[in-house]
Amino acid sequence: MSSVSPIQIPSRLPLLLTHEGVLLPGSTMRTSVDSARNLQLVRSRLLKGTSLQSTILGVIPNTPDPASDAQDLPPLHRIGTAALAVQVVGSNWPKPHYTLLITGLCRFQIIQVVKEKPYPVAEVEQLDRLEEFPNTCKTREELGELSEQFYKYAVQLVEMLDMSVPAVAKLRRLLDSLPREALPDILTSIIRTSNKEKLQILDAVSLEERFKMTIPLLVRQIEGLKLLQKTRKHKQDDDKRVIAIRPMRRITHVSGALADEDEDEDNDDIVMLEKKIRTSSMPEQAHKVCVKEIKRLKKMPQSMPEYALTRNYLELMVELPWNKSTTDRLDIRAARVLLDNDHYAMEKLKKRVLEYLAVRQLKNNLKGPILCFVGPPGVGKTSVGRSVAKTLGREFHRIALGGVCDQSDIRGHRRTYVGSMPGRIINGLKTVGVNNPVFLLDEVDKLGKSLQGDPAAALLEVLDPEQNHNFTDHYLNVAFDLSQVLFIATANTTATIPPALLDRMEIIQVPGYTQEEKIEIAHRHLIPKQLEQHGLTPQQIQIPQVTTLDIITRYTREAGVRSLDRKLGAICRAVAVKVAEGQHREARLDRPDAAEGEGCKEHILEDGKSNPVSDTTDLALPPEMPILIDFHALKDILGPPMYEMEVSEHLSQPGVAIGLAWTPLGGEIMFVEASRMDGEGQLTLTGQLGNVMKESAHLAISWLRSNAKKYHLTNASGSFDLLENTDIHLHFPAGAVTKDGPSAGVTIATCLASLFSGRLVRSDVAMTGEITLRGLVLPVGGIKDKALAAHRAGLKRVIIPQRNEKDLEEIPANVRQDLSFITASCLDEVLNAAFDGGFTVKARPGLLNSKL
Ligand code: ADP
Repeated sequence: MSSVSPIQIPSRLPLLLTHEGVLLPGSTMRTSVDSARNLQLVRSRLLKGTSLQSTILGVIPNTPDPASDAQDLPPLHRIGTAALAVQVVGSNWPKPHYTLLITGLCRFQIIQVVKEKPYPVAEVEQLDRLEEFPNTCKTREELGELSEQFYKYAVQLVEMLDMSVPAVAKLRRLLDSLPREALPDILTSIIRTSNKEKLQILDAVSLEERFKMTIPLLVRQIEGLKLLQKTRKHKQDDDKRVIAIRPMRRITHVSGALADEDEDEDNDDIVMLEKKIRTSSMPEQAHKVCVKEIKRLKKMPQSMPEYALTRNYLELMVELPWNKSTTDRLDIRAARVLLDNDHYAMEKLKKRVLEYLAVRQLKNNLKGPILCFVGPPGVGKTSVGRSVAKTLGREFHRIALGGVCDQSDIRGHRRTYVGSMPGRIINGLKTVGVNNPVFLLDEVDKLGKSLQGDPAAALLEVLDPEQNHNFTDHYLNVAFDLSQVLFIATANTTATIPPALLDRMEIIQVPGYTQEEKIEIAHRHLIPKQLEQHGLTPQQIQIPQVTTLDIITRYTREAGVRSLDRKLGAICRAVAVKVAEGQHREARLDRPDAAEGEGCKEHILEDGKSNPVSDTTDLALPPEMPILIDFHALKDILGPPMYEMEVSEHLSQPGVAIGLAWTPLGGEIMFVEASRMDGEGQLTLTGQLGNVMKESAHLAISWLRSNAKKYHLTNASGSFDLLENTDIHLHFPAGAVTKDGPSAGVTIATCLASLFSGRLVRSDVAMTGEITLRGLVLPVGGIKDKALAAHRAGLKRVIIPQRNEKDLEEIPANVRQDLSFITASCLDEVLNAAFDGGFTVKARPGLLNSKL
């Protein structure tokens, strides 16, 4: 005790008024300074002062309202702590503010406030003088006991803490090295105490009182810690017990001992899984992987995320049809009958499919090409694929590839990823449960590409017969033999299929249907199917062929039959309502009293309000069966016709011609419009044209300009220089659709010839063909689809390039009958065919005269 050097504080102290926290001697505290008085004190004493003495402050706790600066000094707590300002940190923005680090030295008591502004200064009396502790024997003894007791508790408390923490170890050392009298203040500020309790300790000037007050605080803290440790221990024990139980259960399983009744279901599953792996017929390599994985699984705690992953993996492995297959039923004659029964028309496709099946029958292990059906939507590509599966007696699975742009969709994710799963091929195999299904890869032309790799490249491996006997899905990570799977692909166009993929496949074009074919398909297949789906019979509904033709021409414009099918569905729905209503009414008419009863009920329910509409309908007779769908019924059900044949209307003035275009959705007729106006010889093109089409327009204009004299073509002012003082505007309607391709060349030339000659193009003629600068007509593709489009539109004459004559064979006979095809090798022939009376050079009267 005597070793402590006495602290002598100045008799006058500047007062720092705090309202948060209580600083006790021997402890350190951070306090924020934001009231005007305190700010002044910091500025003039701490920031400007240089002596050690100027850094000693009197800290007065518990100031009621330090913010009320403008008013007089608030009532001050009588006892404070003299403190040393160790650090000042501050900023002036957004408003002046300091934080002080202060260390308590000793208690003091205010005797008198000598100055109030700008900060209070008081005359003080120092209270703690350690060397002046009472020396009387009694008090020393008592104090000794108290301090001993206090010390014991303090040691007990500190030893309950974690000694490996450096601060705790230091505190333990301090307990021995510091004078006992200083300990109550220090420990009070360390342990969990309220401000009020700290204030009481500050006010306890006599040491005895201070010891007495702090001992209960220490005891409280010790009890709290004991409770905490007890609960923690419980938890640890529980954990240990759970871990101890698990291996024991496992041992009982392995040794084949009788399982407990409350045995974990999961463990049962694992045993089952292990059994399945043992009995499964998977290849050697896959089996090895499974055995390894199940060993790992057994050692894994179930709470581990990898547990579920591994289990799912193993379940997939045992479920996969490694060796399970169906036996092919290959009978070509039966196959032909089945294909014919399921599909009308599409002779070329059916022929090729039969050839394919025949080769399969002769040579069992076929490493042949992959068939790819290319054609507009709704022409039956998918349903032929399904029929192939049916004829072979194989399972069928459709894999939609439209929009797939991640290669892991095909090949699976590696198992390291969270949420990883196998690709669509392996998933498909799991679904069908055999290793030789028919997989229909639908919409291969709509595969996307992204940063996640190219799915088309992944498909290459799947489709290549040389590679696919050991296709490795990233998820499985073992090879699966896909050589027994029969792949059939479908696409709308070959243009967007990656060349490497296209190379692996044999393309079979499936063109659109003619009107007659559609009528047949509707009556043979679609209508019976729709009737069945809607629970109707032919005795209830009758759709004559003319109505079907009306639906085809006026309500749909498509190459396939999907829209037609939908419209027939709509008709069946409407008829189903009528039939159901009729049955209801018949029932009522049969039981007039029952109907009356019901009527009464309705009356009561409706609270006396009469319902004339329901009354009249109740009286109406049921519709006559079968309900005949004529044009009026069609209008009622489907609304007014969507498409009208208005071709002739469009051609009522010069400068319009009809072209034929090919789109992935089938053939289309396309109007080309031209107009001229005063200008500087500029050509404007609208209708979202591609570069090839723009070039065709320039070619046509150049050819016409160079042949203007020959055909007597003039501009508005009669000059043979067609572009002199003239601007031309060419427009291709349906401006929102991008168009490109060379086949509009002849149409543009005809349209402009009409514009400059002032003659009308025949309203029943459509044309297609690429042109050259010399006026030659070059062949183009899609003749069949284009001819069908012209036929659909009710046109009569179609001008095609001469070199496309061979394609006419593909066109169904009835279409060829209805249309007259004119082949042209140069533009002269095109123009001659497009205008009534030809477009030949006019004989000049003057010349004739001279000859005469
Ligand atoms: P795609 O795959 O070419 O888009 P779908 O195979 O889905 O077309 O065919 C659409 C619907 O049209 C199916 O209900 C199908 O049965 C029917 N269909 C198409 N073509 C024919 C046809 N030639 N004979 C019978 N039904 C057909």
